[in-house]
Amino acid sequence: MRIVVLTGGIGGAKFLVGVRARARAIGADVTAVVNVGDDVRMHGLQICPDLDSVMYTLGGAHDPERGWGRVGETWVVKEELAAYGAEPSWFGLGDKDTATHLVRTQMLTAGYPLSAVTAALCDRWKPGVTMLPSTDDRLETHVVVDLDGERKAIHFQEWWVRYRSALPTHRFVFVGADAAKPAPGVLEAIAAADVVLIAPSNPVVSIAPILAVAEVRDAIAGGPAPVIGVSPIIGGSPVRGMADKCLATVGVEVTAAGVGGLYGARSDGGLLDGWLVDSSDSSATVPGVPTQAVPLWMSSEAATAQMVADALALAGLA
Ligand code: GDP
Ligand code: CA
Repeated sequence: MRIVVLTGGIGGAKFLVGVRARARAIGADVTAVVNVGDDVRMHGLQICPDLDSVMYTLGGAHDPERGWGRVGETWVVKEELAAYGAEPSWFGLGDKDTATHLVRTQMLTAGYPLSAVTAALCDRWKPGVTMLPSTDDRLETHVVVDLDGERKAIHFQEWWVRYRSALPTHRFVFVGADAAKPAPGVLEAIAAADVVLIAPSNPVVSIAPILAVAEVRDAIAGGPAPVIGVSPIIGGSPVRGMADKCLATVGVEVTAAGVGGLYGARSDGGLLDGWLVDSSDSSATVPGVPTQAVPLWMSSEAATAQMVADALALAGLA
């Protein structure tokens, strides 16, 4: 069996730990198509937060408490940059993490595409799944906000990390998406998939930028594999992070039904053939989409692997 997972960073990475466990149990093969909308250049380094969250988590090197970055991290480079007054000072750049960004930036500068760089970094971390960026092209999420009495677009990282999403926010723009092509392997993986899972990642800023590449969205919506989504909202709460702010900005209710409706029924021009919601949301319905309620708290690898088994069952796969 071949499983494709659309994923963002921390939430998606946790989900992938369960996908990998279930896949090992049934002899399946996993490809993660990872959001690049958060990617940003800081201090001359190309930073790919979601790719790194997935790579470090599956490589067993992430910091489980902070959620992002490396366990046992030190911050000498960050302190030294601050001593120079180098901006942006609001972005956390750990020393171990910096080595990853140096290798990545050096390879990109030498002309390697991001997909090849990701594969090279994964040689070290052995995530146990094939990790593909959604695109090798520049695609960045920018946010239209009111700031200093002006309406302007700022990078997603600035909105999220610097301003903690607490600015009057009007919309999200996926800069470069119109011209972006799927990275090598993405369309092939979707075409060969037995199932496509949408991780319980942030639908607005993790999954939407992946789907903003038209060929990726079309391949999934028009492809043979059933598409099963897992709700990132439990009982009206985004569990962790700021998905509620993102959903409010795009006018979607912060509920399992709201997010399911955002993805929409495949039979109705949307994506979903099935929608997994938490047991506490058993009354949630999405028009045209079979919905099933199971525990969706990713409290352990085993609990998450069971969620994945439930998603595969909803797709009609054992
Ligand atoms: P990011 O890119 O690091 O922000 O991470 P993702 O977009 O991949 O995932 C963030 C989302 O994961 C949050 O908005 C939550 O809604 C969701 N999430 C986090 N923990 C859980 C959990 O235990 N269960 C479910 N169903 N969703 C979760
Ligand atoms: Ca992210």
